[in-house]
Amino acid sequence: MSYTALAALLLAVAISVTLFARRARLLVKLVLNGKPAPRFDEVPTRIRNEAVIALGQRKLLQRLLPGLMHAFIFWGFIVLLPTIAMAMIAIVDREATIPWLGRQGWFALLVDLFGVLVLTGVITTFGIRKIQRPERFKGSHTGEAELILALIAGVVTTLLPWHATRIALSLNEWPAAWSPVSNALSHLFTTGPATVFAERALVWAHVLIILSFLAYVPHTKHLHVFTAVVNVFFGRTRARGRLEPLRFDDEASEADLRLGSGTVADLTWKQIIDTYSCTECGRCQDVCPAYATGKELSPKLLIMALRDQLFAEGPALLTGARAEPSPLVPGAVSDDVVWDCVTCGACVHECPVSIEHVDHIVDLRRHLVMVESRFPAEADPMLRDVERSSNPSGKSQAERAAWAAGLDVRVLEPGDPAPEVLYWVGCAASFDPRARQSAIATATLLKTAGIDFAILGPRECCTGDPARRMGNEYVFQSLAEQNVATLNDVGARTILTSCPHCFNTLSSEYPDFGGHYRVKHHSEFLAELVREGRLRPSARDTAITYHDSCYLARHNDVLEAPRELVAAVGKPREMPRSGKRGFCCGAGGAHMWMEERGKPINEQRAREAAATGATTLAVACPFCTVMLEDGVRTSGVELRVADVATLLAESIDSAANRS
Ligand code: SF4
Ligand code: SF4
Repeated sequence: MSYTALAALLLAVAISVTLFARRARLLVKLVLNGKPAPRFDEVPTRIRNEAVIALGQRKLLQRLLPGLMHAFIFWGFIVLLPTIAMAMIAIVDREATIPWLGRQGWFALLVDLFGVLVLTGVITTFGIRKIQRPERFKGSHTGEAELILALIAGVVTTLLPWHATRIALSLNEWPAAWSPVSNALSHLFTTGPATVFAERALVWAHVLIILSFLAYVPHTKHLHVFTAVVNVFFGRTRARGRLEPLRFDDEASEADLRLGSGTVADLTWKQIIDTYSCTECGRCQDVCPAYATGKELSPKLLIMALRDQLFAEGPALLTGARAEPSPLVPGAVSDDVVWDCVTCGACVHECPVSIEHVDHIVDLRRHLVMVESRFPAEADPMLRDVERSSNPSGKSQAERAAWAAGLDVRVLEPGDPAPEVLYWVGCAASFDPRARQSAIATATLLKTAGIDFAILGPRECCTGDPARRMGNEYVFQSLAEQNVATLNDVGARTILTSCPHCFNTLSSEYPDFGGHYRVKHHSEFLAELVREGRLRPSARDTAITYHDSCYLARHNDVLEAPRELVAAVGKPREMPRSGKRGFCCGAGGAHMWMEERGKPINEQRAREAAATGATTLAVACPFCTVMLEDGVRTSGVELRVADVATLLAESIDSAANRS
């Protein structure tokens, strides 16, 4: 045993751990100072997410080559962890190792195998960055990332040759065949003093690189090495389309009372860990429809900007050296960035470390709208109309059921017995002439199938979705309370919606306000009726491509039912971007009522649909109907846009169903 080596090692460890701990202390303090976020529930689901998303690298593996290379590095990191202790022990006494594991041949084999995989991962990742130069890395701290890759390569390129010198010097207790790579390298070494020196030099180099890594990484933007697994554990477990309600009630503590994010002091602790965890991989930016159409918003740059402002102001705020934090908008990001988002959730779905961009953006909007009254002027009439007229078109509620004239649809009066199905029509299908076609088709189909249904007529108010996504939580909550009271009074067993935004709000957000309902989207309900033989469509030769609504597919997992309907009425053609990885129509996040900057999202989607060779573009959302009809018209492609209910109604042989 070498006491000199022990003293040197302890000094190196002390320096590294001190640098690490000082930084970690600041990072933890910032998190503890964050606003509350309810993320300690549903522990089994969190453990499962950790196993699948963090350990299993599921999201990263959606892109095979870069995902696999990252997985090699990550899994290798876990497997090689004990070798750090083995190397440190060997520095002090080269004959010694950690108990049991340090003397297992199979572990030596794993170390060799993962050593090679990590090196493969590092070299390939480096190659992708330098040769392919993906657009998604634009704006990332690539220099830092490459230094970290170099450090990881250094860990492995010292480890395996060190093992090789040990084999050459016969220091291992297991047969050399267990370490095929190190064994092959061992032929480069003799048994002489040069190898003895090399063995010492390599083990020291190995340990010093690891200690440098430990001290360096928390001071860089690549903190995710330590925080990503924590962020995944505390990630979203409830419905993806649900926004966390703000507390306005009298029982809310001072910490609970926040009106979104105005400064870094308003961020929740989960949002702070979000900013620490961004790997700057750009997967979110790659799928963002706003970024893809030349708008200022990049979800990656947004998270990086929030982190920059947190690190710039957080330490001084903690010590009291700074009294007031500066505004996040326009400090960290511009107003345009905040309003460019269509809340499609593509970024959240893609992010490998469970960052919740939509919640950040809506919180920024909440502050702008509720505290500063600052939002795009063109959205003002919508917000005013939702508040005053209970619908975003500013129409009279008395006109709510006008679409059903002549269809013999029952309008529920207070005290009427509950129908089997309550059809929640939604504002767009009630008032917009193009979206109405879907409501008319749905009602006709329900009648054809003999379903006992009714509508609320003037008692149905806007769910509050556009106001909420704009950031006006006050208006949303007052509408939510009013609608929940009406729905609880009606007591319908099943609520049917035509609009995915209503579907999301009724099923995922109203439970927070005492409304617990069995909600079905019309595509699901109609597909069931077709399966049961209560509706009998006849397939035609029409080539149809289906556009997934973000609030149906990505936020609420409704993928198959609309496709079943398309297959029942025509010849389906899938777009390359579909299902949970679909591309927004451009209407979400209250963008139906906002001017769009940059290239129109709906035109890009219309061109994608036309490229499939389909002649019909099927949708299952009144907003998608309107947006994509406009996109088809202005982009000049030849397509008919129609809701799946409309297509189904057209294909039904009414006479056969009546017989
Ligand atoms: S929700 Fe959609 S539009 Fe908004 S940042 Fe994410 S990907 Fe972009
Ligand atoms: S937010 Fe997520 S997807 Fe976007 S760059 Fe950061 S880690 Fe990657």
